[in-house]
Amino acid sequence: MKLAASPPVDDDRALVGAWASLVDSLPDATWLVDAHTRRVVADNAAARQLLGRGASSLIGEPAESLIATPEDMAFWDEAAGCTAGALQSDTTLCAADGRTVHVTRCIRPLVDAGGGPARHYAVVVSDRSAWREAENEREQIVAELQATLESTADGILVTDLVGRIRAFNRRFATTWGIPEDLLASRQDETVHDWMRRSVPDAAGYQRRLRAIQEATLLSATDRLTLHSGKVLERVTRPLWCRGQAMGRVYSFRDLSEQLAAQTRIEELSLTDALTGLPNRRLLAEHMARTSKRSRSEGGSFALLVIDLDRFRQINDSLGHETGDRVLIDVAQRIKSCMRADDLLARTGGDQFALLIDGADTQLAERSARRVLDAVAAPCNLDGSQFTLTCSIGGALCPDNGHTADELVRHAEAAVLAVKQGGRANYRVHKGRSGGDRRADIQLDHAMRQALASGRFRLHYQPQVELCSGRVVGAEALIRWRDPALGEVSPTRFIPVAEDSGFIVALGDWVLTQAVRQGALWQQRGMATPIAINVSALQFQQPQFVDRVAEVLAAARLPAQCLELELTESILVRDADEALQRLRALARIGVRLSIDDFGTGYSSLAYLKRFPIGKLKIDRSFVQGLPGDDSDGAIVVAILQMASALGMKVIAEGVETEGQRRFLLDSGCHEFQGFLYAPALDTLSFEARLKLAQAQAEVTRPQRVRLVSG
Ligand code: C2E
Ligand code: MG
Ligand code: MG
Repeated sequence: MKLAASPPVDDDRALVGAWASLVDSLPDATWLVDAHTRRVVADNAAARQLLGRGASSLIGEPAESLIATPEDMAFWDEAAGCTAGALQSDTTLCAADGRTVHVTRCIRPLVDAGGGPARHYAVVVSDRSAWREAENEREQIVAELQATLESTADGILVTDLVGRIRAFNRRFATTWGIPEDLLASRQDETVHDWMRRSVPDAAGYQRRLRAIQEATLLSATDRLTLHSGKVLERVTRPLWCRGQAMGRVYSFRDLSEQLAAQTRIEELSLTDALTGLPNRRLLAEHMARTSKRSRSEGGSFALLVIDLDRFRQINDSLGHETGDRVLIDVAQRIKSCMRADDLLARTGGDQFALLIDGADTQLAERSARRVLDAVAAPCNLDGSQFTLTCSIGGALCPDNGHTADELVRHAEAAVLAVKQGGRANYRVHKGRSGGDRRADIQLDHAMRQALASGRFRLHYQPQVELCSGRVVGAEALIRWRDPALGEVSPTRFIPVAEDSGFIVALGDWVLTQAVRQGALWQQRGMATPIAINVSALQFQQPQFVDRVAEVLAAARLPAQCLELELTESILVRDADEALQRLRALARIGVRLSIDDFGTGYSSLAYLKRFPIGKLKIDRSFVQGLPGDDSDGAIVVAILQMASALGMKVIAEGVETEGQRRFLLDSGCHEFQGFLYAPALDTLSFEARLKLAQAQAEVTRPQRVRLVSG
């Protein structure tokens, strides 16, 4: 330290030296100013360095000259009258090296021990640049954090550990609907109260909040639903500072839009866009639930698959737009037949499914009939009038299965059967369980083996002319005795063969066998027309007509000796194609009859078109004769219709004399049934035929020819 020249007091010399070194070593620039002259009387190294004086002292310089700005001058003027205390100010100086230096300057009057005005002022200038820099940095970080806070889509609230608000963003205020000035004024309790009052379950909210707050170190995520309907996801994290939890950061994400979008997506993926009805997926989910419940509680339910008939024609002739409106209209019509708990789904282009909870066979049937009627009511769209019908297949849980998949398959199989049987009707699937399906596969295998090993036989059931009692034909009926399975009924294996397609090979065997037998009988003078049963699949084979002609030619049997028993479904399916084929068969000379007549789709219109020579009344109508009036009426109606169309009629399943009598009296031409004979093996049939011939010989002297008319 340098002092203005003055004679040192001897005793103090050492102390003054020590003091001077101490002051020289101080980091703050320090100098002494004479109050009277306002000139520097002592300085230190830091002062000389700050003002860029190197080794040269500041002593003698006017105090004002060390300060450059007018602001500083005013400061000195103020300081001048000061006798006690200190004056402190922050300012910037341009340092000797050109740096802008932020300083804090303190001017303190040094008052003598004896009192009176100060003789000297001490000026201490502290370099605060580093502090200022840090402060600037901090301010910038705060600004950046605030901007970040504001730019997030979540509402953020920061509190200390006791819930005092430390920070928040605007999104927080808007999410909760809290006025910003309330938040800014840090009225913590009012804000917390506001939040509590915004949720329906304030007590639950408070409990949960307390639990979150007590778990100081843990993060937590939960959901809140506000009175406004908003759903918020709340994430709470501890706020750390130097390894200590100092508070909590709450972020609130408004999930309302996201949830609404999710719900909409769910809805769209579960509903049909055109009709707004549930789709196949939602139906399956619903069925899974219903079937689970029915399994545990023992209830039942029905699934109806409703398929519109010939809907393509509507689309093709009236356009797709009208087609769409028809579908919407149909959906409404079906709905009008439903109970509140039933579920209607659109499962395909022109297919609907109706799930009827708690339904048994009767209820399912009643519902189906109502739907059939509702759909078949006349439509009037844009001046076009038309009638639409539908085919309905039903499956019942638990009768036909438990899983949605099983029931849908069964109901769809039933719809197919309705379509094949002439449409516009309802049918329940004759359910077969999974175990039965395995058995079917085994049966199919065994059948194929049986055909290869020649284990099938044909039996022949006599067909008798009612008025004369003559045997005028025979129906060939297949028989199978399996070494492992025993005698298997055709009612068991024919459907399986139809399902697997094996019926084509089996039917061909029957055709060949029956035609050979017919030829043999003819050669032996016992000419008997033989009727064989033809399945739909067999009939549909492209080579079917050629094959029949070929087999007849090979055996040299006249075509008139062969009759093909067809089912009504053959005529309904691909009617034009069937007509061509039937005409070709008729041209060859083969006779055609319709088996099980009355059980399918009976329409005069189509019967008239086909070259059918004979109808076979199904045995279910014969059973009730003569007592059952409705069976009687049906039989009479069939007979009248056949007579109008010039067709013959045979009744099957005739077991009693009463039945035979009724049929004879009603004008039926022929019958077959246990009353006369069951299906007989070849030898028995021949024996029976000979017996009949012999009896005829006895009653009539002339020989009766065993050929039908
Ligand atoms: P379907 O063509 O209607 O044959 C008549 C059925 O009634 C035969 O049963 C016959 O044995 C039986 N039946 C005859 N008289 C009476 C009677 O008085 N009372 C009763 N209750 N039943 C009588 P089966 O032989 O069991 O044949 C059943 C069905 O199997 C046949 O019905 C036919 O649809 C089919 N089927 C039989 N053989 C063949 C065949 O070679 N090819 C094809 N595709 N199907 C056949
Ligand atoms: Mg038959
Ligand atoms: Mg029949």
